[in-house]
Amino acid sequence: TLNFSAGPGALPAAVLAQVRDAIAALPETGVSVLGMSHRSDWFLAILDEAERHVRHLLGLSDRYAVSFLQGGSSLLFATVPMNYATPAFAAPEYVVSGYWSARASAEAGRVGPHRIAWDGQRAGFRELPVLEQLDVDPRAAYLHYVSNETIEGLQFALPARPASVPLIADMSSDFLSKPIDAWHFGMIYAHAQKNLGAAGVTVAVIDRELLTRIPGGLPHILDFRTQIAHGSNYNTPPVFAIYVLTLITRWLRDDIGGLEQVQRINEGKAARLYAVLDEMSDAVTIHAKRPWRSQMNVAFTFGDARLDRAFLDTAEARGMSGLEGHRSLRGLRASLYNAVTPQAVEILCETLIEFALQRA
Ligand code: PLP
Repeated sequence: TLNFSAGPGALPAAVLAQVRDAIAALPETGVSVLGMSHRSDWFLAILDEAERHVRHLLGLSDRYAVSFLQGGSSLLFATVPMNYATPAFAAPEYVVSGYWSARASAEAGRVGPHRIAWDGQRAGFRELPVLEQLDVDPRAAYLHYVSNETIEGLQFALPARPASVPLIADMSSDFLSKPIDAWHFGMIYAHAQKNLGAAGVTVAVIDRELLTRIPGGLPHILDFRTQIAHGSNYNTPPVFAIYVLTLITRWLRDDIGGLEQVQRINEGKAARLYAVLDEMSDAVTIHAKRPWRSQMNVAFTFGDARLDRAFLDTAEARGMSGLEGHRSLRGLRASLYNAVTPQAVEILCETLIEFALQRA
């Protein structure tokens, strides 16, 4: 597949074939996956397997709960402060490093007081701070950041140690794309439609210590303890999205060989594309400054809306899709999630080179 969309993004061909069959009828039950009850033994086993894969891939200890939620990462922008920003702590701190972290920060502001620990907006969201060097109140409820800014194509280096306050990361666009030290985090969340399959489910990994801070009186569905207590089956979960997530994490473990392997592949893809774009630096501008270039989303432009459009047309004629930049930044963007193959990136690179040569 030549799908470079930022989300929902590409799926591995082998998984797609399995999903196609499962929509017709699951081999285990003879019933379409779309008609499977969330109370069935089949689905309980799928939920169990999904959690086991996430735990295995991240090496999670029992200190962490894994939960499958709905409402997307946007609902977490609201529920994170509702659950943790209590009067027992100083206001939570937010890193504003791009479009999505700005959305998270604004949403926290609707819930209660929060503090902006760093703001890159005036500099155009082209660089990132060093998390460990931020001046964060040690009494703050938590520090929130977005590990990979999907729109601007900026990616943080992994924190080298646990922060002085619980670190909460929206990893929607780089979750399970490389190994991480999960124990450096108080909470990690990521929606599925980038590296984990279909839209509809959001994975949350939560240090159980944080659960003890949740105030009473939240609506049950917004209280993080509810889905954990009910094995992510308190109300009807997104059965299909969780099924696809299970297949993808199985594929990551068995076909790819784990997160070190996928990191190696992802680094190779990104290095190849950036090298080609750097070769074309007279004609192309990459949005992110070099040290913060994302391995997942490459935002760039030929500097002229007509040229960007011409490239899109050329790429589309060759079967590529999803290369249009986000409406807030425009330009072009290639997303290189786990399911995008090195071969697909090679075709994109060849097309870029030919396009540039024709115009030189
Ligand atoms: N966070 C990040 C990093 C994103 O890239 C996006 C959307 O692409 C969101 C949050 C919003 O996610 P959702 O549409 O699941 O609410």
